[in-house]
Amino acid sequence: MEKRQEQIIAKTQEFLRINSVLDESTASEKQPFGAGINEALTHMLKTGEDYHFFVKNLDGYAGIIEYGKGEESVGILCHLDVVPVGEGWTTPPFSAAIRDGRIYARGAIDNKGPTMAAFFALAIVSELDLPLSKRVRMILGTDEESQWRCVDYYFKHEEMPTIGFAPDADFPIIHAEKGIADASLKWSYQVGQDSQNVTLSRFHAGERFNMVPDKAIATLIGDRVYLDKIEEAFRKHLLQNRHNGTATFEEQTLTLTYEGISAHGSTPEKGINAGIELATFLSEVDLQSEANDYLAFVVKNLLGDCSGKALGIATRDDVSGPLTVNAGLFSFDGKEASIGLNIRYPVTASGEQCLGTLQLTAKKHSATCIVLDHMEPNYVEADHSLIQTLQAVYERQTGEEATLLAIGGGTYARSLDTGVAFGPMFPGREDVAHQKDEYIDIDDLLKATAIYAEAIYELAK
Ligand SMILES: [Zn+2]
Repeated sequence: MEKRQEQIIAKTQEFLRINSVLDESTASEKQPFGAGINEALTHMLKTGEDYHFFVKNLDGYAGIIEYGKGEESVGILCHLDVVPVGEGWTTPPFSAAIRDGRIYARGAIDNKGPTMAAFFALAIVSELDLPLSKRVRMILGTDEESQWRCVDYYFKHEEMPTIGFAPDADFPIIHAEKGIADASLKWSYQVGQDSQNVTLSRFHAGERFNMVPDKAIATLIGDRVYLDKIEEAFRKHLLQNRHNGTATFEEQTLTLTYEGISAHGSTPEKGINAGIELATFLSEVDLQSEANDYLAFVVKNLLGDCSGKALGIATRDDVSGPLTVNAGLFSFDGKEASIGLNIRYPVTASGEQCLGTLQLTAKKHSATCIVLDHMEPNYVEADHSLIQTLQAVYERQTGEEATLLAIGGGTYARSLDTGVAFGPMFPGREDVAHQKDEYIDIDDLLKATAIYAEAIYELAK
């Protein structure tokens, strides 16, 4: 690696100068994700050819760069697409400027820098002409940041590597990723005559399943006398809980907003769920029966509990910890209501069983439960040869212990049957993926290249 560092840095910069953000406006049959992503893909494949590797373009959806012979294969799963640049960059996001030993560019750490590290790792193994018994196959994805249509296409047409890794998360090794499911609980009401003084006409919180809502809004309609009382109680409630919110009147309508604290859906306990908080306050108010039932459901099943205990789905294991539930979406309009849940269950638990139980709980509360998305857990056991090999390589190269990580999030490695996330972020580094001024530390880029080279050899020898 040391002999090649100039070249690794220069080629990485060159690759980072291609703007590979998804662009539907230039999409066509030959370039399904647009011109920029297509340019990045053809650029990588051309680079593969320059090094005399076998290359293949899978109709613009994905690419293959392969070296060696053998029945079995070692897969290295990377992606060439990047998220939009956003605002506030110090130097242009596709200039790949070097400052303070770092290359700054959109995609530097996620995932074009690591892709080049893996590529040069393969180049080193091939140039040294080391004896291998397995093929080494880089799979170049192009839609990781959006809908993973790249890996869907790849696995429809190409083989699953025997073992593999994805350099698209953290070092040392993420060997356990919880199962993730998005489920929506839905109610629809036969609305009858209402004799209530105040009705809830609208309740809304959250934009996404996998985020804790940081804002909730409720609209109440009724006589001003009653609304005044609610407003007063609301202000008291906010003070007592030291939370922020607003109450505004417009004739017979009172609008309440509640501010929470957002957090990622894999760690709902770190946030304050504005939807749950506002529902809890409103559950004390005498409203129409549909609203009372909906709010009571929230309080009974979601208040102060991210473990799914009241929903009947709580479970945990030693490898990956407890099941977590994030209520990311709330909606009520008097005729229909829903709650969107993002559920992350431990790697040894059964997703079927967990979602089955949730269906029963929903039924008990006159709701239907629709599972919109479900990704099985990704788990490679600690004593598997893939793990043992990667651990040994990491420890030899860094002198640090190769601790195994378990996470609630999902990484690209999930696409592999027997695969783990392996780098490129070293422990303690700030996570700059998807941020402005994204960068990769040049020392880390080179260190990762050496680690990947030895890993490729050890896994494929
Ligand atoms: Zn990524």
